[in-house]
Amino acid sequence: MKKQFAIIGMGRFGSSICRELFHMGHEVIAIDTDEKKLSLARSFTTETFVGNGTDESFLEKIGIRNFDHVIVAIGDDIQASILTTLHVKDQNVPNVWVKAQNDYHHKVLDKIGADRIFHPEKEMGSRIAAYLTSDTVLDYIDLSADYSIIEMLATKKVAGKTLIELDPRKRYGCTVIAVKQKHQVDVTPDPAEPIKEGDILILIGDKRDLRRFREGEL
Ligand code: ADP
Repeated sequence: MKKQFAIIGMGRFGSSICRELFHMGHEVIAIDTDEKKLSLARSFTTETFVGNGTDESFLEKIGIRNFDHVIVAIGDDIQASILTTLHVKDQNVPNVWVKAQNDYHHKVLDKIGADRIFHPEKEMGSRIAAYLTSDTVLDYIDLSADYSIIEMLATKKVAGKTLIELDPRKRYGCTVIAVKQKHQVDVTPDPAEPIKEGDILILIGDKRDLRRFREGEL
């Protein structure tokens, strides 16, 4: 379903989100105080507006309240990011996602009702560290400080075993929620089907249990 997004701040983070959403077929408008940033984004936006996110009347004028999602991707200017978020929340936008610079910024954003808070540099750092330290972790999503969803590569060691034999829920306390083979994702994997080398197992669980599974089985 086509959604409407407004992105405030067309730095590296804002513009890369913008490009992805636009190529997924969504309607995306870009807002920035800097006209040059907007002209670079013109090929992957539905519309662009020069303006300041901290200016409440500007946000009203462009009808920010009509968007399903607003992403505040203002970089270093923490005060502007907070004020912009506050105005957008005041306009009752249901999903306001904000890029945070540090933990204090995060705390304030949380207090004023940001629906989702990103730390792209930190998140990317943890991701890269996970790839660098493991041959079998392909990707992961942190659900909380303790829980993750993780994509793991099935090695020779696990090949030929079935999910019944592995029994990750009982033995490790984590659950296989899908098995990926090339471009196919099977969300109801047959527990009696042997796993093949190169399959990708998608598991959910406590991080420590996921690590135990990986170290024990892969
Ligand atoms: P990144 O690390 O994602 O590249 P930047 O700090 O380089 O972040 O970019 C942030 C963008 O936000 C810049 O293009 C800047 O012009 C824009 N910006 C900063 N303050 C405001 C504001 N108050 N309203 C709208 N856009 C802003």
